Amino acid sequence: MEKVKVRFAPSPTGTPHIGNTRTALFNFLFAKKNKGKFILRIEDTDKKRFAKEAEKAIYKILEWLDLKWDERYVQSERSDIYKKHAEILRERGFIYEDDGALRFKMPKNGETTWIDAVGQKEISFKNETQEDFVILKSDGYPTYNFANVVDDYLMKITHVIRGEEFISSTPKHVQLYKAFLWKQPIFVHLPVILGTDKTKLSKRHCAKSALDYRKECFLKEALLNFMALLGWN
Ligand code: GLU
Repeated sequence: MEKVKVRFAPSPTGTPHIGNTRTALFNFLFAKKNKGKFILRIEDTDKKRFAKEAEKAIYKILEWLDLKWDERYVQSERSDIYKKHAEILRERGFIYEDDGALRFKMPKNGETTWIDAVGQKEISFKNETQEDFVILKSDGYPTYNFANVVDDYLMKITHVIRGEEFISSTPKHVQLYKAFLWKQPIFVHLPVILGTDKTKLSKRHCAKSALDYRKECFLKEALLNFMALLGWN
């Protein structure tokens, strides 16, 4: 049996609210339950949206809640790895240049399909609805879609557990795995926490960060319990 390895892969663009932190908790619990590993990977390749404060908050929250990671990576320190992998795809004829950026050619016919572990349901997208997408930007940094797949593979991630807002990016990921001839991980898209208007919980709903609750003297045990049980019924 393959050893379970999961990751929490936040983008430090804004202070994480409890919706994001819940994803970390679910990954952590899944790793512990399966005697596997929990990886923290900072996805900081969007230099325009990068916020140092957000990065600090990610560490502070995980430390306060005792969600200890077994390994930690920072994508901005791994640029050479992404460039090397873009070259592999270039050699295989999967990419072309567009204004200094590299684009991945998506198939134009058929469908991209995977079985999502949540509810064991098949999710399928028509390829004609998909665009060729940028994998390396003109600033030399990879995009989320590319760095995310390369790292999940290299870090031997067995289960990609993340919010269901990433379902629409998954066809890109599946096609990258195919182009590299890599085995894809199990995708687990968690229902997200909604605000009272039934849209994804966000700053607009005044969603708070775990650190706000800490300031208000909530116990971390209470917050963990709340996040674990939220959506239970
Ligand atoms: N960096 C993405 C985020 O902002 C990670 C998504 C994923 O887990 O694949 O949440």
